[in-house]
Formats: sequence, structure tokens, C-alpha cells
Amino acid sequence: MDDAKTTMAAPVHLMDPPEPPKPHKGCDVCRALVGERTEAARAGDWSKVADVNVEIGRHRAGRHK
Ligand SMILES: [Zn+2]
Repeated sequence: MDDAKTTMAAPVHLMDPPEPPKPHKGCDVCRALVGERTEAARAGDWSKVADVNVEIGRHRAGRHK
């Protein structure tokens, strides 16, 4: 079968950070985590960014359902 060209090439993103989870309005923990994420992104520490994103997601799931 022809499976050679079934997918289009995805556009290349240049150092675009992943969509950050949105901080919950008025939540200090969210704001602190987002601040940490921003700092890590500025430092180019993408593994830390991913870690903080997971932490934000976990915090939101527990606190802001
Ligand atoms: Zn929060």
C-alpha cells in the first residue's frame, strides 16, 4: 500500500515553549509555580519547565477542580 506521504510535515517551532497551564486567579501557589516556570524558561531549563508544568497540573487537579 501507499504509506509514504500520508502525513504533512509539521511546521517547525523555534524555541516556542509549550502552552503553559493557566494560573488560577488569586491563587498564590499557582502564581508562584508560574513564576518558577517563567524563570526556568528564561534560563532555557526546559526539563524544569516540564516539571513545573506537571506540578501546576497536579496542584490544579487537587485544588481547582
Ligand atoms: Zn492554585
